[in-house]
Amino acid sequence: MAGRLSLRRTPQERRDVPWRGYKLAYPMLSADGTEAGFTGVSLGRTHAYGVQAEARCAQSSRHQSPSRLCDCGFYCFHDLADARALACDPQYQQSVLLEVDAAGRYFLYERGVRYSKQTVRSVHAGLCACGWPAQVFVATGTGVVGWRKLLPVCSTCAGNRPPLTLDHFSRLAGVPVHRDDQAVAFTAGAAANPELVPLLSAEVALLHARLDELQSQLDRLTKGH
Ligand SMILES: [Zn+2]
Ligand SMILES: [Zn+2]
Repeated sequence: MAGRLSLRRTPQERRDVPWRGYKLAYPMLSADGTEAGFTGVSLGRTHAYGVQAEARCAQSSRHQSPSRLCDCGFYCFHDLADARALACDPQYQQSVLLEVDAAGRYFLYERGVRYSKQTVRSVHAGLCACGWPAQVFVATGTGVVGWRKLLPVCSTCAGNRPPLTLDHFSRLAGVPVHRDDQAVAFTAGAAANPELVPLLSAEVALLHARLDELQSQLDRLTKGH
């Protein structure tokens, strides 16, 4: 159970040697079909970013991102397992998993980091909603201005929709796109252990850590007067 996270009270700093991190994102294709990108799965759904990106705040241009008083910035987990657990949540099933380098201005949390400078190192296409490894991307019919949202699917579920191959996406993005080796694992251990089904998504827990931080700042301010 993810629960609330304790925050390491690191002052915000810059980091040049990146952390390796893991996160979920939706794969995107530019309107003219020449660029591959991503959007966030919870925050930042409305803004597409490329393989190398600097965080910008969508709510205010007055502060640098990330800011202590705002939830903007990129997020990732330290652990691949946390990102994989989040991918089981139905609302994130249409996402891909990104391996990223996280650097720049940052806030460090117990299970992840919020940061300004992101380089995507590789993409894992994950599983089709039917349980088989995704083999191609198809258009979803949704998107944001300038970008179409893609859906990772197996070739059976792609049906007669025009497919964009993983290799094609990889060439456009300039990073490797890996196909999962295995279909969804129905092992006894996974089915029998409810601990593996997180009640709170870990990404939401990251946000809670931020809110705790905000609350403690408010407490300090209130006590000071
Ligand atoms: Zn902000
Ligand atoms: Zn399928």
